Amino acid sequence: MKILHTSFECYPIAKVGGLADVVGALPKYQNNLNVTATVTMPYYENTFVKQQKLKEISSGNIILDAVNYDYKILSLDSNEIPFNLYLIHISNLLDREQVYGYEDETNRYLGFQFALLDWVIKEKLSFDVIHCHDHHTALIPFFINYCNSYKELKNTPTIVTIHNAQYQGHFSHEKLDVLPAFDFKHVGLLDWYGSVNPLACGIKCASRVNTVSPSYMEELKENANGLEGLLRSESNKCVGILNGIDTDFWNPETDTMLVKNYKPSTVISGKKANKKELCDIYGFDIDLPLFGFIGRLVGEKSADLLPEAIRQSISEHKEINIFVLGSGHKEIENQLQPLKEEFPGKFNTHIGYDEKLSHLVYAGADFLLMPSRVEPCGLNQMYSLRYGTLPIVRRTGGLKDTVIDIGDEGFGICHDQASVWDICYSIKRGIELYNNKNLFRRKQKQIMKIDHSWTKSAQEYIDLYKLI
Ligand code: ADP
Repeated sequence: MKILHTSFECYPIAKVGGLADVVGALPKYQNNLNVTATVTMPYYENTFVKQQKLKEISSGNIILDAVNYDYKILSLDSNEIPFNLYLIHISNLLDREQVYGYEDETNRYLGFQFALLDWVIKEKLSFDVIHCHDHHTALIPFFINYCNSYKELKNTPTIVTIHNAQYQGHFSHEKLDVLPAFDFKHVGLLDWYGSVNPLACGIKCASRVNTVSPSYMEELKENANGLEGLLRSESNKCVGILNGIDTDFWNPETDTMLVKNYKPSTVISGKKANKKELCDIYGFDIDLPLFGFIGRLVGEKSADLLPEAIRQSISEHKEINIFVLGSGHKEIENQLQPLKEEFPGKFNTHIGYDEKLSHLVYAGADFLLMPSRVEPCGLNQMYSLRYGTLPIVRRTGGLKDTVIDIGDEGFGICHDQASVWDICYSIKRGIELYNNKNLFRRKQKQIMKIDHSWTKSAQEYIDLYKLI
């Protein structure tokens, strides 16, 4: 079975969030299950890509917004990437340093999809399924079914995976003439509430749709930034498949980004060495419980609640340390920075993206805070479990599917509301747990052994392909 994954992110080539981790791991695990998984993504002009050996294997041209663009298909061979990977190079359109944040992003998404389909047809490649990740590539099912230029691919089965339904990629109907000619009686498939909505169109046109956790799929049927009715009406082809984690890469026994490696039997000394490193860098007291947060500083992650929750928790308990690693909304970043001066030795933060530091926090923290308002799957809680760090989560989406409260014979701390009070109360429960040393250490060992590897989920995707 041959699968073509199409995505704007893939670790380690370009990562903004969980999408990259999934597209960088799922194909590898599928290849272990007798599937040939290929990944296509844009060529970015970033440090990682510039260091790679790339080989041009095909080229062509597309017309986008009345401009002729040449494209090149570049294959990337690296020991770090255990699947076929092709980068689509389009000068002045895709060859930028960052993944997102450009004014012409709609054209970037469209140009990528046009070039990809043009290449597949030109080279007469055949795939059993085209697997589209998020709205950036979710127009492919429509294009191949209704555009004359891609008629050779008509009826190729497609899957759209929704990693995050908040982002739908909509653009104005005025841009319809940028799309390749299509049978206009189907224009309604592109529309959702008065604009062209790629994610909605993907849900309507794909053979199957999935979210990255079962609970998230159920939640989206109630609240999906306007798509809830659509997901309810298409529910017979929708399913939730929980993400896995790449347990080869996220392995505290071999992780080269840690100061000391460890396994369940050495978790206490291993975590202590990594915690010491964090404490030395950020001025914390190693004997106090350390609560970490890693993620985008945005409302979805409840990062706006963190400054007040940190202030209240440290004021009330004194004997705790909190560390935040993240970047996002400037207001949140600006509210976090002064807390360093307000609570020296108790609170610290690194504003920015730092892969190595994130590994050190997963290993060195005692608890990981995830009070998310929305969490389609959430990978951080699974990484933290693997590194023996107890997750403190809001019961939502994938967090609900992966973390059981210690009060229910589980191993984490769960709360229902995204509120300052709930976060503070959970931190209080964390301190109590930390002080119950026997139980705390038992749980650290226990959570490291929970299996969240991709093997099971990769098979679920294959089962889903076979249903089409
Ligand atoms: P999302 O995709 O919504 O941001 P996920 O939990 O699915 O959230 O994935 C987040 C991924 O990004 C994890 O691998 C996490 O470690 C990483 N990450 C997020 N912010 C940072 C940061 N500031 N520095 C390093 N890694 C980060």
